[in-house]
Amino acid sequence: MNSLQSFDYAGKRVLLRCDLNVPIKDGVITDDGRIRASLPTIQYLVSQGAAVIITAHLGRPKGERKAELSLAPVAHRLGDLLDMKVTFSQEIIGSIEAKNVKAGEVVLIENIRYEGAETSKDESERTTLAKELAAYADIFISDGFGAVHRKHASVYDVAKLLPHAPGYLVAAEIDVLKKLTQNPQRPYGVVLGGSKVSDKIGVIENLLDKVNVMAIGGGMLFTFLAAQGYEIGKSLVEVDLIPTVKELMARAEKLSVTLLLPTDIVVAPAFAADATPTIVGADSIPADQMGLDIGPVSAAAFAAAIVECKTVFWNGPMGVFEFPNFAVGTKVVAQALTQVTGISVVGGGDSAAAVRKLGFADSDFGYISTGGGASLEYLEGKELPGISVLA
Ligand code: ADP
Ligand code: MG
Repeated sequence: MNSLQSFDYAGKRVLLRCDLNVPIKDGVITDDGRIRASLPTIQYLVSQGAAVIITAHLGRPKGERKAELSLAPVAHRLGDLLDMKVTFSQEIIGSIEAKNVKAGEVVLIENIRYEGAETSKDESERTTLAKELAAYADIFISDGFGAVHRKHASVYDVAKLLPHAPGYLVAAEIDVLKKLTQNPQRPYGVVLGGSKVSDKIGVIENLLDKVNVMAIGGGMLFTFLAAQGYEIGKSLVEVDLIPTVKELMARAEKLSVTLLLPTDIVVAPAFAADATPTIVGADSIPADQMGLDIGPVSAAAFAAAIVECKTVFWNGPMGVFEFPNFAVGTKVVAQALTQVTGISVVGGGDSAAAVRKLGFADSDFGYISTGGGASLEYLEGKELPGISVLA
C-alpha cells in the first residue's frame, strides 16, 4: 500500500475523499470533530503544492438535492479552520471550480450523495460517476474513514481509476484497529454497551477469543440478564437473541474470558430525565421498572478491571448518559479509561459524544475513533472495501 508521502504532489491535482459528515442543526454545525480530523491531510497536500478537490457526503439524501444536506456550511467552516479560502462547487459532475483549481488551492464539491450513483448497488452506475470524479485529478487520496466500509463510487470505485493512497486519518485509524486485533498488549479488555445487542453481536463474537476481559453494560446487558433467567422488568431486551447470548456466555467460560456483567442496576419507572432512580440488585429488578444505568458497585468493578488492562477498547455508553441521573456508570468507565497506561480506544458516535458531554478531553484517551460503523465492521473481522481497494 502506498502512503500519503509516496507521491510528488507539485503541480498535481488530487481528488481527496474526506468524512465531513457532521451534525448540523438549523444550518449550524454542532460538532466539527470530523472536519478537524480531516485537516492534517488537507494541509499536507496544500503544503506540497497540490491542487486539492475534496469530495464528501452529508447524511442520506438518497440521490436528491436536499437543501438541508448541503455541504455549503462545511465549506465555510473548513475555510475558517484551514485559514484559507475554500471554494465551494454546487456542481458535482462537470464542476468548473474543480476543473480550474490551481496549485495550493482547495475546492469542496457538493454532497456526493446528491448523486444516486454514489451509493448504487449497480457497479456500472457507480463507475460512471467515479470516472467523472477521476477526470478531475491525477491522484486519489482516501481519508474518509467513516465511509470506508461502503462500496461507494467516491470511496471504492474511484480508487480503481487513479494512483491512490490512504490519508493520515485513514492510516491512523487502521493503525489503531490493528493494535486491537493483532498481538494486543495484555491484559486486553473490551467494554461494550449502547442500546442494542444486535448492533454489537458481531464484535462480541469476533473479539471474544482475543480478549482477557469483556464487560457488558448499556441497554444490551438486559438480554444477558434475561438469558440467565432474571426478571428484567421494562428494560430493553432482544428476546430473539437470548439463545445467541447463552452460547456466547458458554463460549466465554470455555475460553476462560472474564465476562463481567453488572451486579447492581439503576432502575426507574420510565424512560425520562426526571424519572426517579433506584439502585437494585441485577437479580431483583422490579417488574414495573426499567434499567437505565449500571449500578455503582458494577461501575467500580468495571473500572477496577479496566485500569489493570494494557489494551482497552470501549464502545457503547453504560447507561442513558443523555439523562444526568443515568450517566454515572458511563462517567466512571470513561474515567477508568483515562487511567489506562497502555492503549485506550473509544469507538462509536454516541460513545465519543458521551465522553465529550461528560467533560473529558479527546486527549484524555489514547484514541477516539471517528468512524463508528467502519471501526465496528473491522473489529467484526469484516473486510472494508474502501481499505482493500487501496492495497
Ligand atoms: P455508539 O454510537 O457509541 O456505538 P450506541 O449507538 O450503540 O453507541 O448506543 C448509544 C445509546 O444507547 C445511547 O443513546 C444511550 O442512551 C443508549 N443506552 C445506553 N444504556 C441504555 C439503557 N439501559 N436503556 C436504553 N438505552 C440505553
Ligand atoms: Mg450510535
